[in-house]
Amino acid sequence: MIKREIYYVKKNLGQRVRPTFSFEIFPPKGKVDLDGIFGTIDALASLSPDFISVTYGAGGSSRDNTVEIASAIQMKYNIPALAHLTCVGSKIEDMDQILKELKDKGVENILAMRGDLNDEAILGDFKHASELTKYIKENYDFNVLGACYPNKHIEAYSMEEDLKFLKHKVECGSDALITQLFFNNDDFYSFCNKARGLGIDVPIIAGIMPLTSAKQVDRMISMCGATLPESVQSFVKAYGHNSLAMKEAGITYATGQIIDLLAHGVDGIHLYTMNQPDTAKRIMENIRGILYALKVKRV
Ligand code: FAD
Repeated sequence: MIKREIYYVKKNLGQRVRPTFSFEIFPPKGKVDLDGIFGTIDALASLSPDFISVTYGAGGSSRDNTVEIASAIQMKYNIPALAHLTCVGSKIEDMDQILKELKDKGVENILAMRGDLNDEAILGDFKHASELTKYIKENYDFNVLGACYPNKHIEAYSMEEDLKFLKHKVECGSDALITQLFFNNDDFYSFCNKARGLGIDVPIIAGIMPLTSAKQVDRMISMCGATLPESVQSFVKAYGHNSLAMKEAGITYATGQIIDLLAHGVDGIHLYTMNQPDTAKRIMENIRGILYALKVKRV
């Protein structure tokens, strides 16, 4: 089988290749019909992404759905799939089982993370994403990506400390990194400069979330520690009560972020779609000319 790695860049570090454009989806919870999510993937596939990632819930059958959906993206849609995987609650034998299953089902790319430590979360045999990354790299043949945080991870004492552990994670084998969502591109540029200064030289893909509903705001900020610039706060305040206006504003803001990131030579854009392909489609339409000019995609 042809190896469909997301990142071939690692072999050509320093050599600039075109930025990737990709999407994140989340699987439905429980033993449910997957028709709805396949409808979402049909719509996203028509936008020819470089890869689609599938999130991973802590415990329960949404994990099985992650494997099933990632496998379908890779094998049926012929789009590289990136399966998220977390340390939380897993012993080595659980991890081996899921890694073998992913391999058997044709998935070649894993986003290895620790997972959030909420009240129910118990760490298993892997305490940090770096340990999981190292284990996968030493025992399996996967392309492994890691998470990173332009506004620093919420538990980290300082950005310097967070970056020190990030460097260790990359040394353990991360082939590329995807950022947590952020709303201020300057935070991203500053983060990348610091990371590059420490010798972190793998691609850093910018995670962009179009803020299309006021309800998302508090949840997102408390969960992931992203900071909201004044311009975002004011559009949420002005349009948050009206779903149509809020969606327009969120799509326009995310489009502006992406145009600026592409102009600054970002390695890739990963769009948190929230399973809303229409939002992804509108953003892609907004930047069609830009992608064409940069030869990012054949459009
Ligand atoms: P780590 O890299 O382990 O870092 C966690 C914290 O520990 C950081 O503060 C870091 O500075 C610190 N640290 C790291 N190494 C060490 C060390 N050796 N000693 C001491 N401290 C250390 N969660 C899910 O449950 N499912 C998902 O599908 C999912 N998808 C995500 C996708 C992206 C792109 C991102 C950015 C996050 C995602 N998350 C997901 C959330 C993620 O699981 C949380 O942010 C989690 O709290 C940290 O995961 P991590 O892999 O970054 O952890």
